Amino acid sequence: MIEVLPLRTPTLPPATHTNAYRVGGVVIDPGSPWADEQARLAEALRSGPTVTHIVVTHHHHDHTGGVVDLARRTGAKVCAHEDARVPFPIDVRLREGDLVPTGGPPLRCLHTPGHADGHLALQVGDTGDVIVGDLLAGIGTIVLAPPEGHLRTFLRSLERLATVANRAFPAHGPTLEDAPAAIAAVVAHRHARSQQVEAALSAGATTPREVAAVVYAGVAGVDMKLAAAQALAHLQWLSEEGRAREEDGRWRRVVARAPDAGLSQAGEFLAALLREHAPGAAPNLRVIPGGRED
Ligand SMILES: [Zn+2]
Repeated sequence: MIEVLPLRTPTLPPATHTNAYRVGGVVIDPGSPWADEQARLAEALRSGPTVTHIVVTHHHHDHTGGVVDLARRTGAKVCAHEDARVPFPIDVRLREGDLVPTGGPPLRCLHTPGHADGHLALQVGDTGDVIVGDLLAGIGTIVLAPPEGHLRTFLRSLERLATVANRAFPAHGPTLEDAPAAIAAVVAHRHARSQQVEAALSAGATTPREVAAVVYAGVAGVDMKLAAAQALAHLQWLSEEGRAREEDGRWRRVVARAPDAGLSQAGEFLAALLREHAPGAAPNLRVIPGGRED
């Protein structure tokens, strides 16, 4: 059984909370740095199995803010991926495929970087239930801020998740009952954004900030620093695709020699996913094309 307790955290709007999950003796992402929320979590955990392990999906502060407090209260082992740069000692360094004991079906670690280095998704036993951290969001969108945020890596992690997940339990917002559809929607959104970024380059924007000003024009309440970081993530993806190039901080569009040169197997997989779950999005899809010379 997966239990959720949303805790108030200093996260990014529109989200105001980070979901702490409990599966048996494991608590995932106790993220609140605030004493009243930490006490509320401890109170909620008082009934039910003894907490033996605390797992963080990644090192961002809205996922880790309550770890030290909960570890002190429970004596539980603190677990994170070996690449996660958490600001406290880790008792168990996790890797791809590791199993975290819960007292019931264990949690299987899926290394899923792209949003954060050392990001983990946790599959509950052999089920299609996956605690996905910041791979998917039930509210708002996932921020990709380079250099840690990397769109191609993120899309690969989503692709991986799509082979496993039926239901996704995100760190922010409600459960996503149809995980493949949610993944397809995110992939479609990212590709639409990439096309908007490419169009902004064509229209004369040259810096991430200029691109963001075009792409996010008319969107209320945009944090331009985050928007520029997002634009940069898409520019880097276009660059890796041979569709944009950067020189001295200025970006320009490159017209690809072979615009539809074969989708990779991975790209075809996502294209099929999109055809099924987000019809209309697939025709322009170019996910991870085979490497080609620029
Ligand atoms: Zn995060």
